[in-house]
Amino acid sequence: MKGTRIAVIGGGISGLATARYLAGAPERPQVTLLEADGAPGGKVRTVDLGGFEVDTGPDAVLFRAEAVRELLFELGLDAEVQAPALRTAYLWSRGRLRVMPRGSVFGVPDRLLPLMTSGLVSGAGIARAGADLVLPRRPQGQDLSISQLLRPRFGRQICERLVEPLLCGVHAGRADVLSARSTVPEVEAIARDSRSIYLGLRRRAPAARPAEDGPPPPVLVTLRHGLGQLVQALRDDLPEGCLRTGTRAVALTRAGSGWVVSCGEGRPDLDVDAVVLATPAAATADLVEPLSADLARLLSGIRYAGVATVTLVHPLSGIARDLDATGFLVPPADGRFVVGCTWSTAKWPYLHNDRLAVVRCAVGRDGDQRWADLDDDALVAEVRSELEVAMGLTGPSERVLVTRWPGAMPQYAVGHAARLEEIDVEVAGLPGLALTGAAYRGSGLAGCITQARATARAVLDGLSAAEDGDGDGDGAAAGDGAR
Ligand SMILES: Cc1cc2nc3c(=O)[nH]c(=O)nc-3n(C[C@H](O)[C@H](O)[C@H](O)COP(=O)(O)OP(=O)(O)OC[C@H]3O[C@@H](n4cnc5c(N)ncnc54)[C@H](O)[C@@H]3O)c2cc1C
Repeated sequence: MKGTRIAVIGGGISGLATARYLAGAPERPQVTLLEADGAPGGKVRTVDLGGFEVDTGPDAVLFRAEAVRELLFELGLDAEVQAPALRTAYLWSRGRLRVMPRGSVFGVPDRLLPLMTSGLVSGAGIARAGADLVLPRRPQGQDLSISQLLRPRFGRQICERLVEPLLCGVHAGRADVLSARSTVPEVEAIARDSRSIYLGLRRRAPAARPAEDGPPPPVLVTLRHGLGQLVQALRDDLPEGCLRTGTRAVALTRAGSGWVVSCGEGRPDLDVDAVVLATPAAATADLVEPLSADLARLLSGIRYAGVATVTLVHPLSGIARDLDATGFLVPPADGRFVVGCTWSTAKWPYLHNDRLAVVRCAVGRDGDQRWADLDDDALVAEVRSELEVAMGLTGPSERVLVTRWPGAMPQYAVGHAARLEEIDVEVAGLPGLALTGAAYRGSGLAGCITQARATARAVLDGLSAAEDGDGDGDGAAAGDGAR
């Protein structure tokens, strides 16, 4: 396969990782990574805010994912990994910060005592959750929304006060829209295999359950200089000349058995044997529209929600309470503006400071885009007024940073899995084309990295099968692989 050329379009974590897996493969293809922005990383962005290296997009990566641990090791970053300094988090629910009960999977309880003592759910709410123990197993085969799956079993309070705030915090999504199968596959699988979800969670393999005594292994981690360090390490690991920043792919055309990627603005076209599109779904739809209107339509149907982060560097003396947790999430039913707040200096050891706190708030979710109509000053004022109530924040902040992420969070709505199957069929009809990224089979960093590894392998296998004259080497479908 010597001399094989592959273009990867989109230099977010998905494109960077895909390019790296391709370039490092034994087949040694020549890889070119095109990124429209002036710097790679996409939504992964670490900035210097008054001497603090703060992440304005993702601030944690799922360490449980095998592909993540492998990648960090291969990049020599394992010594840079940092676990959160604290394990406790709060929910700002009905006027108070209340400890989030340990022992829950996406808000679904797998232990009763922490739930009962949290004060989050009333006695009646806990009794209602007991219905899960006696209800029959759900009918098999349907793709249900998270609400449809969980509300009949656990009742309104568990869903509104525990499940919804986690969904909002992680996916900026709604339980009545998101597919249980595609968004919380672990819970959905248990619901399929076990009559009671609660008992199914309790029966999970001990390794998958947090230890009853002592701290469980970290689920989420960062790096000593924020997650921008991962982007930098991936970038440094690419072969010289592989990454072209400030270069937007504007068109994709078939040329014999290969592809031509047009980069516009008098830039030379790229002639390649295969193309990986690691772009958000709307950008991918634009590029494939002339090739397959059906594929473009399927991609355009993946909706995104916009979010913004507001990061404050604030004197600890201007905060009335101890920052004794990683932060808090807010149930959407409480009608607040803030969706979640990370106490970054308390959460991450590398940010620790004796005088200042870094407090990062997320606003915006599917169905609540109020933030988008506000200018930065008004947005900060809204956030501050809620922080005053939630955690006693007073006085001026030393630094404030607003980062807007319009259309950033893909929503795996009911029907997402069926949509992916249709996408796979369309992509298979375009040999040498592959799609990967947050839009498909895992919207977090771990999902993107896991898909990138699978995509790179599928593209190389497809090319070598085509070279051997095996017609099955066609199109590597949307990330073929894990979440
Ligand atoms: C505020 C926020 C917080 C988050 N927190 C977490 C978290 O804590 N943990 C977690 O795991 N995940 C988190 N996520 C999700 C995570 O950031 C994303 O899933 C992930 O970064 C997506 O990576 P990607 O490479 O698929 O897409 P992107 O990062 O969107 O990258 C796509 C890239 O393609 C480029 N591009 C687009 N069109 C073209 C074109 N035509 N030609 C060339 N380049 C193009 C774009 O410029 C961009 O760089 C968060 C997201 C946000 C917004």
